[in-house]
Amino acid sequence: ETKTNKKQDIIFRSKLPDIDIPKHLPLHSYCFENIAKFSDRPCLINGATDQIYTYSDVQLISKKVSSGLNKLGIHQGDTIMLLLPNSPEFVFAFLGASYRGAISTMANPFFTSAEVIKQVKASNAKLIITQANYVDKIKKYASENNLKVMCVDAPPEGCLHFSELSQADENDMPEVEISPDDAVALPYSSGTTGLPKGVMLTHKGLVTSVAQQVDGENPNLYMHSEDVMLCCLPLFHIYSLNSVLLCGLRAGTAILIMQKFDIVPFLELIQKYKVTIGPFVPPIVLAIAKSPVVDNYDLSSVRTVMSGAAPLGKDLEDAVRAKFPNAKLGQGYGMTEAGPVLAMCLAFAKEPFEIKSGACGTVVRNAEMKIVDPDTSVSLPRNQRGEICIRGDQIMKGYLNDPESTERTIDKEGWLHTGDIGYIDDDDELFIVDRLKEIIKYKGFQVAPAELEAMLLTHPNISDAAVVSMIDEKAGEVPVAFVVQSNGSTTTEDEVKQFISKQVVFYKRIYRVFFVDSIPKSPAGKILRKDLRARLAAGDLPQ
Ligand code: AMP
Repeated sequence: ETKTNKKQDIIFRSKLPDIDIPKHLPLHSYCFENIAKFSDRPCLINGATDQIYTYSDVQLISKKVSSGLNKLGIHQGDTIMLLLPNSPEFVFAFLGASYRGAISTMANPFFTSAEVIKQVKASNAKLIITQANYVDKIKKYASENNLKVMCVDAPPEGCLHFSELSQADENDMPEVEISPDDAVALPYSSGTTGLPKGVMLTHKGLVTSVAQQVDGENPNLYMHSEDVMLCCLPLFHIYSLNSVLLCGLRAGTAILIMQKFDIVPFLELIQKYKVTIGPFVPPIVLAIAKSPVVDNYDLSSVRTVMSGAAPLGKDLEDAVRAKFPNAKLGQGYGMTEAGPVLAMCLAFAKEPFEIKSGACGTVVRNAEMKIVDPDTSVSLPRNQRGEICIRGDQIMKGYLNDPESTERTIDKEGWLHTGDIGYIDDDDELFIVDRLKEIIKYKGFQVAPAELEAMLLTHPNISDAAVVSMIDEKAGEVPVAFVVQSNGSTTTEDEVKQFISKQVVFYKRIYRVFFVDSIPKSPAGKILRKDLRARLAAGDLPQ
């Protein structure tokens, strides 16, 4: 309790020296700070059309967008929603909003109407930028609430066209004074518990995170202006937005935009554009390792293969290594709330370090990491398993309008508690071994059990429910439900599954339903998810 009783924390830091980070710069100024060195080089390549935008094109269009947003009545501090697949317009809109001092909240375009509207309401978005084929999801809500909807392609009646932004006069761009603590991105994440929440990532936070990865002499994630980086992961997830787009911009790299992952076009693009950096997720790594067509393509240009967002098994890591003859392969470890990158593989550094398979990197520079006993909060030495905590300027400012959840996640001393269990070995490498928190990761996408449980409880024949993850080779994990039926009802597994699948995006669908008499709970009423997961693992299941 008293100060004298408090043990000194055991803190881990990067093996690389700290660097100076220009934290005062707004995100767009930081990204374009060195643009004079590569202004005529390709910045965005649209993989679908081969259209190329140079660095000066991208900067100019982003300024026009900022000016156009202002004309549309988007003020500093306002939020816009990007409901878009990967596209150059996604990038222009995000950077344009940054120039305007506005905030982008990103949503998966495959979300159901209800899921999109929930996020629009929660984030108080004033404008939605999307594609014509997604307009139906928000049309009614938008017209009832006086919300502007804009399309990057031919807009249906009542919607604006993106040219209103991209063709505005950049000289009309309003002067804005951006504070480093202003939010610039608002991704949604359920964090360690509960429903999805708006994660406020600030200019300072993202500048720090990008700098931790790519700045300085021997950065964690070395890249330069001759590199071609594949952007096949969705930009609406912070991994791709930060570690692909923003890091690429800062380093002057050509960013090859792919709308969605399909193995053949993916391999063709790598070969055609001589891709050098491939940021992937485990399901993509699995597809590469397993697909026989891979051997028909020349992948020798690739020098860095990075996997993140979900655990990558050692066997899979080794299997894919063989497919990229010239590549260093390693993992990064991120969590939306952490900005997102906590650790990164040092095999990617300019002067690379030896790394071990299965490690998810070492803590980034200018940050502190500790491993704590989840029960006592005491910090643990090397090689002992505990909850991974991180502290530094890169972490979120907090959850939007949710101080309670913020306090549960970031403690009074500034440590963000990840809900991941891991240990740091003698060589400073971090290994993640378990998850304390409830989220389920389907191909790297978040599924919040609380969201599905709340939905299940609205079913008239269901009196109690719990959702947990089950291991799945293809997806990593899938959500499964334990369900208690109301007195006398005889709902079927299919009925329950369909009831949910009508309401959610594909990756939140429930794979199995197990009918049980009761849901195991702690005296405080918390679902004992560990018990349920243990039953799944042991094959001790009803029916
Ligand atoms: P998200 O906020 O969607 O990025 O999800 C963050 C969570 O994904 C982390 O807290 C981890 O549970 C998991 N995760 C991310 N990267 C890795 C990795 N390299 N290995 C294992 N789990 C990971």
